[in-house]
Amino acid sequence: MSARWIKPLLKIKPHIHFDNSYARLPGQFYTRQNPVPVSAPSLIRINHALAQKLDIDPVWLKSDEGISVVAGNKVPDGGEPIATVYAGHQFGGWNPQLGDGRAILLGEVLNNQNERYDFQLKGSGPTPYSRGNDGRAPLGPVLREYIVSEAMATFRIPTTRTLAVAATGDPVYRQGILPGAILVRIAKSHIRIGTFEFFSFRNDQESLRLLTDHVIQRHYPKAAEQKNPVLAMLDAVIENQAYLIAAWQQIGFIHGVMNTDNMLLSGETIDYGPCAFMDEYHPGTVFSSIDRNSRYAYGNQPAIGHWNLRNLAQVLIPLLNKNRDKARELAQDSINKYMNLLTKSYQNGMMMKLGLCNVMPDDIKLIKDLLAIMAEEKMDYTLTFRYLSDLAGDDARDGVGDLITFSEKFSFWLERWKKRLILDEQTSIQRQARMYALNPVFIPRNHLIEEVIQAAVGEGNFNLFHQLVDIITHPFEYKAALKKYALAPRPEQVVNETFCGT
Ligand code: AMP
Ligand code: MG
Repeated sequence: MSARWIKPLLKIKPHIHFDNSYARLPGQFYTRQNPVPVSAPSLIRINHALAQKLDIDPVWLKSDEGISVVAGNKVPDGGEPIATVYAGHQFGGWNPQLGDGRAILLGEVLNNQNERYDFQLKGSGPTPYSRGNDGRAPLGPVLREYIVSEAMATFRIPTTRTLAVAATGDPVYRQGILPGAILVRIAKSHIRIGTFEFFSFRNDQESLRLLTDHVIQRHYPKAAEQKNPVLAMLDAVIENQAYLIAAWQQIGFIHGVMNTDNMLLSGETIDYGPCAFMDEYHPGTVFSSIDRNSRYAYGNQPAIGHWNLRNLAQVLIPLLNKNRDKARELAQDSINKYMNLLTKSYQNGMMMKLGLCNVMPDDIKLIKDLLAIMAEEKMDYTLTFRYLSDLAGDDARDGVGDLITFSEKFSFWLERWKKRLILDEQTSIQRQARMYALNPVFIPRNHLIEEVIQAAVGEGNFNLFHQLVDIITHPFEYKAALKKYALAPRPEQVVNETFCGT
């Protein structure tokens, strides 16, 4: 048969559509580095909804080839693996050189809507930035990250997400021997305040300029049309970060390691190490075993956000204006907006959590008084707001009233709140529906996560993990049969410390 009768081979569509803009930046931004293969990869879970959003076929992802990609045993077509470099202020102290010590950016996925997401493997072996560590991740923290990041996504809080988790079949050595795992992290990007600090510290103005242009193009294209695009970018980052931290405060999330290398320019939550949702409300709550001075306590998060953004503003000064004084003034004006933005966003959110719609003069006091009673009486943060939602209408759904106890003080406050509710122009049905959609009954509580990790690590049993993921991805629908997952921990179940994922 002559050649012209042979049909041209159908061009096979790659399983992941990569377009790697960060890898096109010059070499000082990263080191090219392949993931180090593992012995016996086995898939634990894939995130179907996220795979679909990325236009990655879930069936392929579960295939042998898909699992090899997840585990770092195969670099997919179009991938250009790199480990990126950054610096950071960790617990307030400066570290001039960090970087992806146990993560590899395989590339950037473009979905059919042309939305761009980093596809990163976490726990994929050592890189030039590992600083003597193994580049691996134990199974426990990997499961924790899947659960908590998915909860955050369900609450519509900007966050990196988990596409898949796989066991490696290899041990990792920490205090003892633990099973190793790899997590595929999906993020709008992994560019951190610490990435900017890295180049600023080296006085590398050209790289700083390239990085800024990259962030503007990728995350803040509207800033490019402004008179001062760098200032517009800084303003937008500050606004996003204020919104993000206000959202953490509303849901009762404690990040635990708000170092500048863990704060993304995109405004997504990243680094689910020693994070946790608060059970009893108290502003001083800390879980992280390494946060000895309570720097990153729940109540400090807004102020730490400010501290981190000041560092960003500081390193952008040379790009804000040729005149140093003028540049400083611009940076200062921009940073000064942060706390107001955060407070406004937080107060609006808290109003909505209480079912209030028209703003009235005493509303802030109503919120503050409730929080003061909750702190004093050690009330459960999540269940208290859920209980208010039960009380807000006439719905006869399963309620959480029997899961909490409360005092006379709280009952007095309830009377004030009920009097306030009738001043709003909304029916009780509307109010309750809004509150139920905003005040979860299920959060991934620490004691539940611990139970999941123990079953998985101790017995290789992932049933509890799958169950918890299924529950926390439907956090607003309470059924009494699921009471176990709604309850606050009993004293002997309370987890006081969570450990970094290292
Ligand atoms: P993190 O606490 O996860 O933000 O990590 C802080 C820094 O330590 C980052 O540069 C990580 O890449 C690095 N790192 C953490 N754990 C490991 C590990 N097991 N091996 C190599 N580098 C690590
Ligand atoms: Mg980190």
